[in-house]
This record gives sequence, C-alpha cells and structure tokens, in this order.
Amino acid sequence: MAIKQVAILGSTGSIGVNTLDVIRAHPERFKVVALTASKQVDRLAQQCIEFKPAIAVLADADGAARLEKLLREQKINTQVLYGPQALVTAVTDSGCDTVMAAIVGAAGLVPTLAAAKAGKRVLLANKEALVMSGNLFMQAMKQGGGELLPIDSEHNAIFQCLPNQYTKAPSPGLGVEELWLTASGGPFRNTPLDQLGGITPEQACAHPNWVMGRKISVDSATMMNKGLEVIEAFWLFGMSLEKIKVLIHPQSVVHSMVRYRDGSVIAQLGQPDMRTPIAYGLAWPERIDAGVAPLSLTQLAALSFNEPDLARFPCLSLAFAAAKVGGTAPTVLNAANEIAVAAFLDEGMPYLQIPKVVEKTLSAIPVADAGSIESILEIDAQARTVARDFIKTFNS
Ligand code: NAD
Ligand code: MG
Repeated sequence: MAIKQVAILGSTGSIGVNTLDVIRAHPERFKVVALTASKQVDRLAQQCIEFKPAIAVLADADGAARLEKLLREQKINTQVLYGPQALVTAVTDSGCDTVMAAIVGAAGLVPTLAAAKAGKRVLLANKEALVMSGNLFMQAMKQGGGELLPIDSEHNAIFQCLPNQYTKAPSPGLGVEELWLTASGGPFRNTPLDQLGGITPEQACAHPNWVMGRKISVDSATMMNKGLEVIEAFWLFGMSLEKIKVLIHPQSVVHSMVRYRDGSVIAQLGQPDMRTPIAYGLAWPERIDAGVAPLSLTQLAALSFNEPDLARFPCLSLAFAAAKVGGTAPTVLNAANEIAVAAFLDEGMPYLQIPKVVEKTLSAIPVADAGSIESILEIDAQARTVARDFIKTFNS
C-alpha cells in the first residue's frame, strides 16, 4: 500500500487538528507533506515539529520569520513560506497526492481550486470555496481527474448513502429521488424570537453538539450553514434544488439521508465527531479507525425530525433564493455573510443584522455569470465592500 502524501490547508483549525489526529494514528498509511495556517505560529510550529512536513505556510512575513526560528532551533528543516500564493505552492510543490481543504471562507478558494486542477484527491471541508465557484470548481475537478470526497458531515453522509456509480456520474436510472440534509438547529432553535436581539458571540459559538471554528458556529446558529450546505449539495451531487430538503434533527446522530424511488430511505448515523468523515475521506474506499467511540443506539434518547422555521432562520431562505437565482448570487451571499459574521464576532454588530446585511448586499449587486475565477473574485470583493458599507450605515 502506497503511503498517502497529505497537504492540510488550515491545519491549525478545528478540522485541521482533527485531521492530524486521524493521521497520527496511522503512520503506515499517511505522511504529512504540507501544513498551512493563517496566524497561529506556535500551534503550527508544534505540528511541524511532530509531523516534519516539506512545506509550512503562514499568512505573513512576521509569522513566517518566527516559525522559521522556532523550527531551526529544533533542527526541523521544513521550508517556511508565506502569503496567498504560498498556499498554492503547498499544494503544487509539496509532493502531495491528497489535499485537506480546511481553510475557512473565501481565502481557501484559490488553493483548493489548484488542488482540483492538479488532479489531487480533494477532501473538501471548505464549503465556501464550492459555494463561491460551484460550476468552475466541479469542472476543475473533472479536468484534473482527481477524487472529490466531501468532509462536511452531511455531504459525507450522503456520499456514503448514494450508489458508487451515482457519485461518479449522477443518473436518473439509479432511482435517487431526494437528498435530506439534517441540521441541529443550533443553540437558538427554541430561544424565544424576541430574545434573539441580544445574542452575544459567546452564546452563538456555544454549539450544542459540535465543537467547531467560530465562523461556522455562527453560521450554524443562523442556519446560513445549512443554506451553504444546500448549495454545496447541489454542486456535489448534481441534484436539483427542489429535491434537496432540510430537516431539523437536534440530536445530530443521523448525519443525512437519501430517499429512493422504491420507498427506501438510506441514512448514515454516527457520533457528532468530524474524525469519522475525515477518516472516511482519507482512507476511501477503505475504512480505518477514526478514534471515535462506537455509537450506542440503546443509550440514545429519541431521534426527532422537524421542518425548519424560516421566520426564525431568514438566512436559510436567503441561501435558497440565491441558489435558485444562480450565477454569482451564491458568491455574493457567501461574501456578505463572511463580512456580517466577522462584524458580529469582532465589532459588536447585533446578531439580527446578519441576515439584513446579506439581504441588502444580494439586492444591491446585479447577478452575473460566474464563468471565470477572475469574475468570481471580483464579485466577491465588490460584495464585501457593499456589505461593509451597509454595516457602517447601521452604526451611524
Ligand atoms: P477554524 O476557524 O477552526 O480553522 C480555520 C483554519 O483556516 C485555520 O487553520 C486558520 O489558520 C486558517 N485560515 C483562516 N483564515 C485564513 C486565511 N485568510 N488564509 C489562510 N488560512 C486561513 O475553522 P474550522 O471549523 O476548522 O472550519 C474550516 C472549514 O471547514 C470551514 O469552511 C467550515 O465551514 C468547514 N467545516 C467545518 C466543520 C467543523 O466541525 N469544524 C464541519 C464541517 C465543515
Ligand atoms: Mg455540516
């Protein structure tokens, strides 16, 4: 068995750390050849000392100089690079065959696309990259000829519940009728609507079932996360939007389901632990120990499923609407949401303004064709400017 050579984009984040945890347990299967982070120098240094990658990348020169010093002291000769282009170098020049795309947000798009074009096995956690560039990204995967394995737990579940043939080439003959994405409903599923105004970042980041990065935690609270996931499913599985359903399932045990023409519904169940989809993607088509405790159905309380309340979760409606419009609308939705979430987390913008920023930005920017990476990045930048301007008007 050839050892897989793995590059991790975003190795210091929640998904990155879980990926290294799985890899650590299987040194005979995986070798880490590139690690990247934005600013967490000390954590990246520890990871480099343990895994000795060929390349490590940080966002800026200061961080890179600090990392270089820490590594040389330990006699680790990892090449240290910095800046956005270095993320691409980590994919193209590290000798990797597998790329874990786990940067959060639009910053992950260019290196993830580079991995697709280069024919790598892409383990896709960075859903924003796919939402921004859907068609272009799927084309790049096809041209590159690599394997695309979804890491987002819902999409990983659906991938597991679909026939193998379908994941290669969706075809109506295979009897797939609907995809059912489950959602926990986040921490405010039952909070009285009149109390949502005072939500703090700490409350929004305290997810009942999953421990995740701050941005996706806020997205889970607003359910924008599920909206992004609907768009992600649309592209990954070539399924029309009317056939992608969202169900609130507070226990996060059923990670998603596929309904078939003959009446069958196939579900994937498991602990809410990202190491399961990560291990699946790393080892596919084999199965390896993910370090996850076995699921005990008899120890679970009842499993429940409900329709989402769109008045409580306007971000979900906005995402469905943007998906329907298509073109650059999902790019704008994503960019405005990133700006709004950052303003909520870091600048004291009220929680309930998040959907307003997204809605206003979507209606201010005409929809265009998302045909090239240049046009996508241009629209992304424009949407960020418009969203920031709206936030300023809220403040004044
Ligand atoms: P996180 O915030 O914990 O980690 C993000 C990583 O990206 C860090 O290593 C950070 O240094 C790096 N990064 C951030 N901004 C960057 C930039 N501008 N340039 C380069 N690197 C940058 O996030 P996370 O929770 O690990 O999520 C990562 C991705 O995986 C997101 O797209 C998220 O939606 C997706 N995802 C996460 C989970 C989860 O359980 N955490 C589940 C499903 C999907
Ligand atoms: Mg998910």
